[in-house]
Order: sequence, then structure tokens, then C-alpha cells
Amino acid sequence: MKTELLSNKELERAAELLKQGEVVAFPTETVYGLGANALQEKAVAKIFKAKGRPSDNPLIVHIDSQEMLDTLVEDVPENATKLMKLWPGPLTLVFKKKEMVPSITSAGLKTVGIRMPSHPIFQKLIKLCGFPLAAPSANSFGKPSCTTHEHVLEDMDGKIAAIIKGSCDVGIESTIVDVSRDKPMLLRPGKITQEEVENCIGPIDVHPSVLHPNQKTKTALSPGMKYRHYSPSVPVVYVEQENLDTVLKSESGKKGLITSQLKTADIVCRYKTTEELMKNVFSYFRDLEKKVDIIIIDTIPKTEIALLNRIKKAASRIR
Ligand code: AMP
Ligand code: MG
Repeated sequence: MKTELLSNKELERAAELLKQGEVVAFPTETVYGLGANALQEKAVAKIFKAKGRPSDNPLIVHIDSQEMLDTLVEDVPENATKLMKLWPGPLTLVFKKKEMVPSITSAGLKTVGIRMPSHPIFQKLIKLCGFPLAAPSANSFGKPSCTTHEHVLEDMDGKIAAIIKGSCDVGIESTIVDVSRDKPMLLRPGKITQEEVENCIGPIDVHPSVLHPNQKTKTALSPGMKYRHYSPSVPVVYVEQENLDTVLKSESGKKGLITSQLKTADIVCRYKTTEELMKNVFSYFRDLEKKVDIIIIDTIPKTEIALLNRIKKAASRIR
């Protein structure tokens, strides 16, 4: 299949392909998404195939209105209504699903993750289509997510119908909160913090994998939680500050360093703020993996829960 590269002026073409049941990649405010009609089994199957994603890993369904939400979910609990004040934006809510949502989309679960995105291209696409779009991150399974169309092309060229050019804002995937249970639970950390969520609905539970991302969790709520993620093709080492000089000296081969400090290595990706690191972390991984033998990440503050979650999942070692 020839993958079309489209501009943000060619959204009608993208919508036409989506209406034909094809898969299209597009920028979102989190990371690039790989979208298809969430209600059409055959279309959703193409997402799983293009990504090489196991079928027990559920997809998030994206909507543009409350009316669309009501067609997909059994009920909207009070906590959900309160959290929907943070929509549109990088927040996914897990609801009890209606029959309407095919089992392939929810990976056989009785629940479905729903998000209302704020990215203008994504919003316009859903409007033009008139149906919800299932969209995981636009990377091959297990690889770092993509935040540029060039990175999507590396993984998806020839496998999907089109890629829309544009830019992402946050740089990591959405925060996920399960509001289908009596006491809501944070399933995945993101730019929207636990504190922001608790300011809306009071204390919530936190899934153990949020804080301990590389411990094998037996309590995966969706099978998708058990998989390793975000892994570049070279080893990633996350290093506590006091060990950095030792690690830089002792590791052999060409070293790529991600840091905010004035340290040196073969290639240095230097950022000023953790927001900038969040926006670029997957691009750093994808650019460095082509040029170095090992990626070393210098300490980040313990309060950066979402970033630490992604980095520790990507890391093969922590020093
Ligand atoms: P992504 O990897 O960005 O495509 O996001 C999909 C992830 O969202 C899955 O791997 C799950 O961890 C989570 N998820 C999606 N739907 C559900 C659901 N119904 N229940 C629990 N987690 C879900
Ligand atoms: Mg993903």
C-alpha cells in the first residue's frame, strides 16, 4: 500500500479514507495517533495489524461531543461528569461500554476508554467522519511513541493509507482514570496530574504500575498494562545523579546522554525544563537509537510521575 502524506488542508481526503475503513495517522495533543472507525471491526483490525499490537491490548476511543459519548457508554457516573470539565484534553476516562462498541476495540473488556481530544486536526477529523475514532499511538508495538510525521513514516510506511503532517504538544500519552468503579483509579499517569484529578473528584486509588512501572504487575486491569513499552533498539539506562559520572566512564560504546546539566557524552540531548523533556523524550529516543550504542538518562525530579513512568518502562537498567 502506498502511504499518502497529507497536509492539514487535506483533511477531507483523510476523512474519506477513514470512511472507507482505512487507517490514517494524525497529530494529537499527546502523541501521534493511528486512527480508524472505532465501530467497524474490520477497520480496527487494521490498526492492530499495522502496529503488530496484541489483540488483548484495548484501544482508546476518541469523540467530539457528549452526544457521541452517550452512544458508546452505559452510564456517565457523577465523577465522570466532574472530570469531563478537563475535556477536551489529554485525559482518558474508562466507562462501562455499550454493545455498540465492538469487542475488538475494547479487547474483550466490558469497559471502554474514551477521550475528547483538543487538537484541532483530530477534532476536525472526527467531525468530518461523524463516527468515533479508535486511536492508539502511531508506533510499532513496543517502540517509543511518535511525535513527528517522520517518525510515524519510519514505522508505518506502506502499512497505512495516510499520514497527516502536524505537531504534537504534550509529547506523552493521556492520563487514564477508570471511573467505572466506585472509587476511581488512576491507571496511567500523564500531563494531567493525580492532584488535578483529585481537585475535581476527591481522593482516588492509584494502580501500582503507575509508581512501579517495571515491576511485573499481576493486577493488570487490562491485559494491555502488562506489556513492555517505549523501548528504543539500544539499551536505556536511567541514572541517579550521584552515579552519573561513574556510568559515563564505565559504559563502553557510543553514548547518548539526555540531561539538563552541562555534562558531556558522544551526543547530548539537553533540555531546560521537564515540560521540554516531556515534549521531546520520544523524539530523543528515536533519534539517539540510530546514532549511539546506549542511551543514558540523567535523574529527573521524583515528582515527575508521568515522565518517570515512561522512562522507567523504557529503561533496561536503573543505576
Ligand atoms: P495506548 O497505548 O495509548 O493506545 O493506550 C491504550 C492503553 O489504555 C491500554 O494499553 C490500556 O492500558 C488502557 N486502556 C484502554 N482501554 C482500557 C479499558 N477499557 N480498561 C482499562 N485500561 C484501558
Ligand atoms: Mg502506545
